[in-house]
Amino acid sequence: MARTLRTIDELAGARVLAPTPELEDVAARYAVALTEDVLHLIDRTDPDDPIARQFVPDARELDTRPEERSDPIGDGAHSPVKGIVHRYPDRVLLKPILTCPVYCRFCFRREFVGPGANALDPAELDAAIAYIANTPDIWEVIVTGGDPLMLSPRRIRALNAALSAIPHVKVVRWHSRVPIVDPGRVTEELAGALANTARTVWLAVHCNHPRELSAEAAAALSKLRRAGVTLVSQTVLLKGVNDDAGILAALMRRLVEHGVKPYYLHLADLAPGTSHFRTTLAEGRAIMQALRGRLSGIAQPTLVLDIPGGYGKVPAGPAYVEDALGAGPLITDPAGKTHSYPG
Ligand SMILES: *Cc1c(COP(=O)(O)O)cnc(C)c1O
Ligand code: SF4
Repeated sequence: MARTLRTIDELAGARVLAPTPELEDVAARYAVALTEDVLHLIDRTDPDDPIARQFVPDARELDTRPEERSDPIGDGAHSPVKGIVHRYPDRVLLKPILTCPVYCRFCFRREFVGPGANALDPAELDAAIAYIANTPDIWEVIVTGGDPLMLSPRRIRALNAALSAIPHVKVVRWHSRVPIVDPGRVTEELAGALANTARTVWLAVHCNHPRELSAEAAAALSKLRRAGVTLVSQTVLLKGVNDDAGILAALMRRLVEHGVKPYYLHLADLAPGTSHFRTTLAEGRAIMQALRGRLSGIAQPTLVLDIPGGYGKVPAGPAYVEDALGAGPLITDPAGKTHSYPG
């Protein structure tokens, strides 16, 4: 497996930062990891490189704002047993592992993930599976973490076997950044372990910038697709990384070119020390409006806001239909002009 950089000294040695005491403080507070693949994507001549910005620690992470929360989307409030988050009746999150191949500086679970964070032990995993088996409303299991593609193929096969033994679970969805940041992990064996199950398997790949779709990442996605995994994407809208309609249009097109259906564009959550990454809701809506005019329908993600406190995700993009009092609805076209429509 390729080398992973985990300390300020190692990152300084790779010339992606200059060490300071503040950066040591950041690394003491939040997990750090950057893979060799990500290192190769960084343009060291660009001080604002959008890849570096996502993974290289920054002193601004020490600035925690009053509106920020350690558990921004309220996972803790909806956890009936360890490793399960059950917020919507028909689906649960299952978090077997809390490690990741990289540690994104904007991560909404940054207070919980890290190399030292405990995975579920075998008894806890059994209890989580038992909760799913005993809750017939659960139609879909979303395996997340951490990054569940850090599990070995053997453990993925075992998890698939346990889930496919539950008759009401029809769909298994994995959320992962591995195909992008550590594509070498996606071997034929791992792709087969994910896909060879009696259930339909989806994978939501986390990808934020068109440059993340390297040839190696494309090969990993292709392996998953050929194995029978249906691919969708999740992107976080990040200031200084992708808060630009042109960059997002390029990203969404490249995802579609690689057989990945753009799914969600998330407004950045109120995670601690991440204010330098957040855009406003209005900026997100304006970008979505620009994408509507210029981008194929199959390349359109849905802009979503996870309401702080655990109230759920809602679409937050611009509205195209407005009820005008006394008249029919008023429709806005992609260029911004309004039209009437007879009810
Ligand atoms: C995001 C999330 C899901 C998945 O939501 P979808 O809209 O189906 O993608 C499920 N459960 C929890 C707790 C979540 O945060
Ligand atoms: S891969 Fe996902 S869970 Fe892991 S640090 Fe990045 S955003 Fe957080």
